[in-house]
Amino acid sequence: MFVIGSVRSVERDPSILLKTVLSLRKKPNVPIYLPGIAKPSNLATIVFSGIDLVDDTACIIHALDGIYFTRDEELPLSDVSPDIMCGCEACIALSRGCENRTRLLYLHNLFVLKKEMEIIRYKLVRGKLREYVEGKTAFSDWNNVFLSTHDEFYDEIEPFVHVFSKTKIFAGTDRTIKRVEIRRFVERLKTRYEPKGEIALFLPCSAKKPYSLSRTHRIFRSITEDFEVSEFILTSPLGVVPRELEMVYPASHYEIPISGVWSECELQWLSQCVADITRRGDFKHVVVHAEGGFAEGCKRAEEILGDEFIYTSKGNATSKESLSELRNVLESIANPKKKAN
Ligand SMILES: [Zn+2]
Repeated sequence: MFVIGSVRSVERDPSILLKTVLSLRKKPNVPIYLPGIAKPSNLATIVFSGIDLVDDTACIIHALDGIYFTRDEELPLSDVSPDIMCGCEACIALSRGCENRTRLLYLHNLFVLKKEMEIIRYKLVRGKLREYVEGKTAFSDWNNVFLSTHDEFYDEIEPFVHVFSKTKIFAGTDRTIKRVEIRRFVERLKTRYEPKGEIALFLPCSAKKPYSLSRTHRIFRSITEDFEVSEFILTSPLGVVPRELEMVYPASHYEIPISGVWSECELQWLSQCVADITRRGDFKHVVVHAEGGFAEGCKRAEEILGDEFIYTSKGNATSKESLSELRNVLESIANPKKKAN
């Protein structure tokens, strides 16, 4: 077993925890023990970092200082009213004014720490620990700094991250763009995928995955299947997904809230991905059949490239008018697809 001794340094600077675990993980299958600092507020991040063992030292030290643990914070007991106490046996005794308050406070802190560990085990089994840690960043700078540093260490962390999972990635924040599973897809698209064809057609993503099974994409394909076009799906957080890769993980394993509102970060990311794949192709024409943030991302890509794209959607990508415009444009610039006899 490895024991991390520099506990004070880790408490001060969470990036030290990350660097230490990464260096220890070069020797596989040896448990790593981080003594002294586990609290409910940081436990998910500690487990996410790759630590295998923690202890109750922080429960004792904080009880001696009169500090009460919640799942997200550490509060002076004097600030904790009985109605927000957790309801464990120690809390019931505390609210009745029983003696030996330090001991009761320790028992409560330990109860909440163990409860948090149960929740983390459940998140691990469901493949949702990353999302849970992202949520914890809202309450603690330590968690926040750790996750930001973690996402900067892509090359070191990538070998440890699964290449497939049945669990869908929930793309709820701008941080999702930096997840290893997302970056790996984008990096491989840049280095291994060669765009082909003369006509690029950018289409909006659908909530249903793979996109081809959605109602809107079945409508789009009733037109595009007649022409020689290279289809690219615009989406956040993956940027651009070539039609032929829509089954590749995680292109069919993510979900994103459909609000129609794009953050500045998402728009920049989308425009860079569109510009990159367009630049690497040898397209005579680029057609965009999309609205809202999808179209805005493409307009920004035009500015990056200094090219002009053709826009075919007239307010609603599945309206008769828009679909008719798409067909007319493709008839004028694309070769008809050769049908098999
Ligand atoms: Zn309690």
